Amino acid sequence: MEKVLIVEDSKVFARILIRKIEDELFFDACWASNFEEARYLIEENPDKHDYIVALLDLHLPDAADGRIVDYVIGKGIPSIVFTGDVDCAVRDRIWSKKVVDYVAKDSPDSLDYLCSLVRRVSLNKYVHVLVVDDSSTVRRHLMRLLEAHEFIVHEAENGETALDAISRHPEIKVVIADYFMPGLDGVELTRRIRRLRRKDELAVIGISAYGNTILSARFIKNGANDFLNKPFSSEEFYCRVTQNLEMLEYIQKLRETAIRDPLTGLYNRRHFFEAAKTLHADLARGDTPMTLAMIDIDFFKKVNDTYGHAAGDEVLKHVAQGLGNRFRGHDVAARLGGEEFCVLARGLSGQQAMAAFDDLRNSIERSKAKAGKTAIGVTVSIGICDKPHGSVDAMLAAADAALYKAKRTGRNRVLWAE
Ligand code: GH3
Ligand code: MG
Ligand code: MG
Repeated sequence: MEKVLIVEDSKVFARILIRKIEDELFFDACWASNFEEARYLIEENPDKHDYIVALLDLHLPDAADGRIVDYVIGKGIPSIVFTGDVDCAVRDRIWSKKVVDYVAKDSPDSLDYLCSLVRRVSLNKYVHVLVVDDSSTVRRHLMRLLEAHEFIVHEAENGETALDAISRHPEIKVVIADYFMPGLDGVELTRRIRRLRRKDELAVIGISAYGNTILSARFIKNGANDFLNKPFSSEEFYCRVTQNLEMLEYIQKLRETAIRDPLTGLYNRRHFFEAAKTLHADLARGDTPMTLAMIDIDFFKKVNDTYGHAAGDEVLKHVAQGLGNRFRGHDVAARLGGEEFCVLARGLSGQQAMAAFDDLRNSIERSKAKAGKTAIGVTVSIGICDKPHGSVDAMLAAADAALYKAKRTGRNRVLWAE
């Protein structure tokens, strides 16, 4: 369980924070009401004070002037400061301390913002960011800012090294690129990055030179997602990085939803035909064995009639899970519609294919789906085809004919296509 440290002397406010963190983010909230308690919580278990983030009140009865912030950051815990008063002087003082961010205590909205920050920081430790700048001072500054937000940071001193890093680390999600560099400039680098990765896979944020605002447009026109004009504040830097990252994640999520069946999480019909077509072509080219299976639940209408539609849905999920657990990675498993599923599996010999699908059939027969307190048993019939037949559609027709025969000859069986 990930833990969040809260240091706040107002019991009422602390309670609101704890509820929010635990109910909305499902993290474990540990509360200290003053500096001494916070020190105790952190040092009691110094090797594994595994707080993902700390929420710190700037004013504590036993620690004036944000001493708590220096202490907690000194312990390597990313810190978010909240405070009642946010005038310019306070803000500058907070930012000078390498905090994640500050939040004004004034409204329920700021609590929502606080929650989204905590979530962001907890996710950032899986996000790779590349900083490209020829000046080691600037590079170090940007890297420190990113590290304060827990990102995994890579660096490159010029465009060529950056391109190399991107090819070697496909996990890089954000590139921050300076404009003026020897060799490739930032705009040219962006153009070359776009030959490797799409705009919705990797975000490029260009950094424009002092006073040259036309560069921002050139960055965007050449494939950058965003830009920062020098000079920029830490606050603006974080806003840009976070916003671009969230956009990527949002697109990623939309893309996922578009290809999946919402009930079972398997691929949907449309994506099956797309993915299966590609896989079919690859396997045919390499002369690799392939098996297409049509799977249909037996007497499923009776399940709905007896236990209701919601219970029927649980049965569908149960069968889908059995299927998804067995066929994944290089295989394509999908719900084609209703109670009908399809798999294109790679690399199985005829004997192995029969064994794999009969094992699936057997495991579904032996297991039960749970719908509330009711356990429901079903069986499936399966038709399989291992001749490429020149297309997915043709394999499907052959497997479907075998399935039909399996239904006619007693159900709960696996039959080969003719
Ligand atoms: P057979 O053994 O011949 O395949 O008989 P069957 O009853 O399984 O086949 P039939 O095609 O007659 O009925 C399929 C049923 O699946 C009818 C439909 O109401 C139900 N169904 C389709 N989609 C869903 C769904 O998303 N949820 C639930 N609960 N039922 C669904
Ligand atoms: Mg430069
Ligand atoms: Mg059926």
